[in-house]
Amino acid sequence: MPATTPDQTPQTAPRIAETVAAARSRFDSGATRPLATRVRHLHALRAMLIENETAFEAAVWSDIHKGRAEAQLTEINVTLAEISHTLRHLRRWARPKRGPVPVALLPGRARLVSEPLGVVLVIAPWNYPVQLLLTPLVGVLAAGNTAVLKPSELAPATSSLITRLVPRYFPDGAVHAVEGGAAETAELLEQKFDHIVFTGSGAVGRIVMRAAAEHLTPVTLELGGKSPVWFDDDAHLREAARRLAWAKFTNAGQTCVAPDYVMTTPDRVPALVAGLKSAIEDMWGSDPRASRDYGRIVNERHFDRLVGFLEDADVVIGGEHDRAERYIAPSVVTVSADAGRPVVGPDAAHPVLREEIFGPVLPIVTLASAEEAVKVINGWDKPLALYVFTSSARTRRLFEQKTSSGAVVQNAGLVHVASTGLPFGGVGASGMGAYHGIYSWRSFSHLKPVLNKPLKPDTLRLAQPPFTDLGLRFLKGLTRHGGTVKRSV
Ligand code: NAD
Repeated sequence: MPATTPDQTPQTAPRIAETVAAARSRFDSGATRPLATRVRHLHALRAMLIENETAFEAAVWSDIHKGRAEAQLTEINVTLAEISHTLRHLRRWARPKRGPVPVALLPGRARLVSEPLGVVLVIAPWNYPVQLLLTPLVGVLAAGNTAVLKPSELAPATSSLITRLVPRYFPDGAVHAVEGGAAETAELLEQKFDHIVFTGSGAVGRIVMRAAAEHLTPVTLELGGKSPVWFDDDAHLREAARRLAWAKFTNAGQTCVAPDYVMTTPDRVPALVAGLKSAIEDMWGSDPRASRDYGRIVNERHFDRLVGFLEDADVVIGGEHDRAERYIAPSVVTVSADAGRPVVGPDAAHPVLREEIFGPVLPIVTLASAEEAVKVINGWDKPLALYVFTSSARTRRLFEQKTSSGAVVQNAGLVHVASTGLPFGGVGASGMGAYHGIYSWRSFSHLKPVLNKPLKPDTLRLAQPPFTDLGLRFLKGLTRHGGTVKRSV
């Protein structure tokens, strides 16, 4: 059933309830459970992306000025890679696994059987409007669920395209799409789902989790925050600065795992700034406004917020901006830490260090040492990603062992998101749960133990009253050591 068409206004409450009921009825029919159907759904999703590649490129260009190459790399290919990886491994993941049986329960057999959860709601943000809606969907479908998609209203061309395509590629009603903003999402959240995958801000993440609690619905929350960078790679400064600039200014800095702020020692600032400047020129030219590969800010509210950061800062690169085009040049600012105030967090001295930047402004903060940077990171919310650019193994170990974050990437930025074999997710305030590859399978399936205990011989009699001293001694011996055996399924 098509949820809506692009020329319709967003859905009203009864239609939202009907859409969720349709997804529920499809799941209850059992039709999405067979492995063959799951594989067919993944092929349908792949066909939807490949057959409409040009339309997807045009939609993300219209929404956030994302160029063709970036659209391919960060939206379409990343989703196709997730589909291929899942198709390659699905049969193995889906096979029941042998489970251990305690010695005290022998004879017996245990299996671990993965089953779908039911109807999964996927709520996406606007910054990677294809990838962040459809990559979770890969795992949701692979696990045999049905899905209701809620694309972002701030990427209207992509939202409309996906909502139009979904009923064509999923005529069986396994996937539905609902367009709209906060009001429609609130209506959706009143419905009962079996799992919710939310990608977006911590503020809305809290709303989602509160609503989910009403139905005891589990959630995967993919949130954001300030992802820090430690930079002390003197040996490979040019290469490191280029990787840092690419990670920061891709999608005009509107990436959840974009490097948010850089910490380094004062003596390194001039060389780092020179390295960033030449990298920016190399990638986006001396006037990035003219580059087809450089993005725009999603809306005026975010534009004004970002320009505000530039106003009281010491701008050392970029700083040019144009509201009519929502253009902000790749910009680097230097910020001094104020003794007695936290370096980052709501009480930081400079506004650019108080909240997630989510735009093309990169502050450099000088500190005395890597140990000081560890204290800064541990002084506030756990970040989604931490980047360490250093040639020192000791420094890499220091950050890995003394801080906590969704992921640590050494000598690069962003790239972990494209690694289908690694879990992607936050910790603490940057999110809960993870997905991609087998981690999606684990998040969107229930791993059910099935234990079979033959009635004969009736060994459970030993654990039932009346107890004798001899029986108890025997039972103690059997149960204390937790030994298990595995039998084939
Ligand atoms: P957002 O939280 O404003 O919106 C996300 C979704 O929630 C949208 O679909 C929107 O329609 C819906 N929504 C907005 N307000 C709502 C409300 N009051 N009630 C119910 N639903 C509501 O986030 P955004 O601006 O689209 O994205 C930016 C944020 O997302 C940043 O914080 C960024 O770090 C984070 N993010 C995280 C990841 C990740 O993978 N961890 C990826 C991208 C973005």
